[in-house]
Amino acid sequence: MRERKRERERKKKERGFEIERETTEGRARARTYSQSPPLFFDIYVREEMSIEALEIAPTTTKNDVETGNASGMMTTKPGAPAQPQPPITTTATTTSAPTTSTKSKGRLERTDTVHMNMTHIKYEKNPFVTWKAMVFNLISSLFGVLFLAITCALYPIYAFAIPRQVWTFLGEKGFGILYYIFANSNVLRYFHLRSIAKKHENDNGDVLRSIHSFTQTEMLSSAAVIPIPFLSDNYSYLIVDRQSKTAAVVDPSDPISALGVAQRVGVELKMILCTHKHHDHAGGNMRLKELMKNENLPVYAHTLDNCHGATHFVEHGDVIRLGEDVALSVLHLPCHTKGHIAFALHMKGSKNVESSDESTVEALFCGDVILNGGVGAFFEGCAKECALNLHKTLQNVPDSCLVFSGHEYMTMNLRFATYLDDDDDFTRLVLNTIVLTRNRSLATQPSSMKVERYANPFFRIRERAYAARLLLLRQKLQREAKRPWWRRYVPESRNRIGYYKELKSESILLDKIQREENAYNGTGGVGHAMPSKFIEDEDDLTMLIEVLKHVLTSGRNEYDFNEPTDSENIHFNDFMNALKAENDPNLMNRRIHQL
Ligand SMILES: [Zn+2]
Repeated sequence: MRERKRERERKKKERGFEIERETTEGRARARTYSQSPPLFFDIYVREEMSIEALEIAPTTTKNDVETGNASGMMTTKPGAPAQPQPPITTTATTTSAPTTSTKSKGRLERTDTVHMNMTHIKYEKNPFVTWKAMVFNLISSLFGVLFLAITCALYPIYAFAIPRQVWTFLGEKGFGILYYIFANSNVLRYFHLRSIAKKHENDNGDVLRSIHSFTQTEMLSSAAVIPIPFLSDNYSYLIVDRQSKTAAVVDPSDPISALGVAQRVGVELKMILCTHKHHDHAGGNMRLKELMKNENLPVYAHTLDNCHGATHFVEHGDVIRLGEDVALSVLHLPCHTKGHIAFALHMKGSKNVESSDESTVEALFCGDVILNGGVGAFFEGCAKECALNLHKTLQNVPDSCLVFSGHEYMTMNLRFATYLDDDDDFTRLVLNTIVLTRNRSLATQPSSMKVERYANPFFRIRERAYAARLLLLRQKLQREAKRPWWRRYVPESRNRIGYYKELKSESILLDKIQREENAYNGTGGVGHAMPSKFIEDEDDLTMLIEVLKHVLTSGRNEYDFNEPTDSENIHFNDFMNALKAENDPNLMNRRIHQL
């Protein structure tokens, strides 16, 4: 056992330091860590992370508090030029290798018990053993088989006779049944927890071996946020009240990592905050309670989502207090699921914490509503709800607010954003920074509301010129759409009226937007009333989101957004050359929320 460990260490040393690579091959997950960690980043949660690092600096001024920069540490206000950063902050020291225990005075001793002894993880109780679960699984499987049989039987009839709407209806119902099983059955949660436990067993107590990204602790005015990476692209977050050293954990779907991090940092877990019911967010709630041997740990979730293990049901506008200075208000953002909520962390000293005023939000834990540069799939909602979430509910959240989402999807999303608008300098800058960040295997979390508003297509559709461009692209794709070969054998669906109606209303919208744009620029158009800078009409925004979804689908058929294009590589090389010419480490190490 010890031999194996030593062997592993030796191999790691041989492989050496792979983080710094800045080529596109560097994307191949440079997971090794060595004597010198990459730049100033605090790699995941190293054992040097001490409770003292969370102390609030005594010299905090009111001004600092307002800019969310109380400790003068990592967070710089987006929009402001990047402030000079100390090479290593107090949250991490560079010298010791991760396997040596830190016992220096004033630091916590390693609390590695969770990480090292987790090889004896028990799996979640096997759901197949209870009769209830067996009946449920039997019925759900029967439904699945029945649906498949119906589909196969109906296909020939459909091909020649059944109009499009019937087929769409059946498809939706079929999807509905499968989704219901996915979201509500114990079986999937069982497999989810099993894969988590397996991963920890393979890691043999060393979580750094399999994490998908290295992360950095964010110091906010009264709280510290530690992102916890798990599975292939998921994140949960530990929110620590720096005053009382208590913590809340957002979506601890990997309960072992969540508890391990809390123990290592030395904070007391007070509550679980659950954004929505999917297993990769809510699946670990009960298991975490079991591991903590605390049946009474509160789990906050929305009334409409049947989150596993939820005990406290909240609604839009409710405020959850973690400590004296840390308050989280609940924002109901339905669409991905009916009861999807985001937790908004308010600034220290903000008078309106209790009234959950959005303008004092310092950080947003938004689950799958905003996925850094994109939005989560519309499983239980429609484009209208998405439009209201982004353009109404979140409209007062300040640009400086940090956005912590549930997945590491930003590269793919920004590739789509540049596919839509490759002339935009800001979008290009964000994508280049992301590529640099990912080449170093660092997390793209957090982004900021500014980045989302000016680079995320689902936010940008409110810009009139952008919307016009999008509608023109849709028309172009429509003209160029190839007739699939099988259409030669299968007749065109009888009812395409709805589809043509859709195209017609899109071209009407394009006309309207172009007229408004002309009026706004003072070159004629509607004339009588000066429109505002942005599109505000809910129905127009809804239609634009629909169009965006269509364009995303056809874009995906054409391009693989998981792979860089030649143009992206060329832009990235230019970006790196410019950075090297500047020779400014602050620019080189700039993070996404600092753009
Ligand atoms: Zn989800």
